[in-house]
Amino acid sequence: MKQLAYVRPRTVPEALETITTAPNAKFLAGGTNLIDLIRNDVEHPDTVVDVTALPLADVTELPDGGVRIGALVRNSHLAAHPLIRTRYPVLTQAVLAGASAQLRNMATVGGNLLQRTRCHYFYDTSAACNKRTPGEGCAALKGFTRNHAILGTSPHCIATHPSDMNVALTALNATIETESPRGTRRIPIADFHVPPGTTPQVETTLTHDELITAVDLPALSAATNSRYRKVRDRASYAFALVSVAAALATENGQVKEIHLALGGVATHPWRATKAEEYLLGAPATEESFTAAASAELTNAIPHPDNKFKVELTRRTITAVLRDLV
Ligand code: SF4
Repeated sequence: MKQLAYVRPRTVPEALETITTAPNAKFLAGGTNLIDLIRNDVEHPDTVVDVTALPLADVTELPDGGVRIGALVRNSHLAAHPLIRTRYPVLTQAVLAGASAQLRNMATVGGNLLQRTRCHYFYDTSAACNKRTPGEGCAALKGFTRNHAILGTSPHCIATHPSDMNVALTALNATIETESPRGTRRIPIADFHVPPGTTPQVETTLTHDELITAVDLPALSAATNSRYRKVRDRASYAFALVSVAAALATENGQVKEIHLALGGVATHPWRATKAEEYLLGAPATEESFTAAASAELTNAIPHPDNKFKVELTRRTITAVLRDLV
């Protein structure tokens, strides 16, 4: 039995005050990842600050046509919300592709942003893992790598980022809003998750005393024509081998606007900027889509068990864009 202090603040200032005075505390929302990590001896907080009583569970329309999602909106509520279903179908599809109905009923948007890798060596405390214990080594490098990354890796970690929702949020240019004792901060999602580099234990730019309060989606006309496709080993309740989030607008047979992000293949939600650059103004054809996917994959570093992801990614990008046309 692990001893934990439990606190349930009612306001954001109260939550910040608690976390500031407890250097080994963690915010707890739905608990669908953190509780597993505590049970598996991977995370060892001495205090959990349960934020579920904070007033952060609304989805609201912004004056410019965008949408604000409170950090405590449950995944199932988010996926079903009419504003999300009609304006950002890629986000509804991504959320519904993740986990199970029971987990989606518990998991929150803020927690999902902080979801940690499902690398099996990370959860196996008998295996070396730089992310769990910095400097220990990486068992995956000489292990079974079917589920590992081919983009954004480093010699210190090749674990994939596990979230589906974050891939869609990346394609949609979401902005994350936080509160800390230093005030409010707005972080473009592209600057929120960080590649492993030499410090795989650092996964985001969030500080210990910073609380995610909301996620803003910009008004994006192309997003009404958007899609999320997840390729996985079984039809439900499995992490992605490859996933693609895309929004596309064409004019006179050419690509006018493109938003493309990848999951299951990278160490963080991967914005496919090379493919986007290739496609802007190009003919909206299958040949262009395949060439753009190849451009994105130029720097991929596959391992023996995940070489298949290169071709699978190329084909999935092509298929999703073809469908959107
Ligand atoms: Fe740990 Fe990353 Fe290596 Fe997995 S890939 S064992 S998470 S260091």
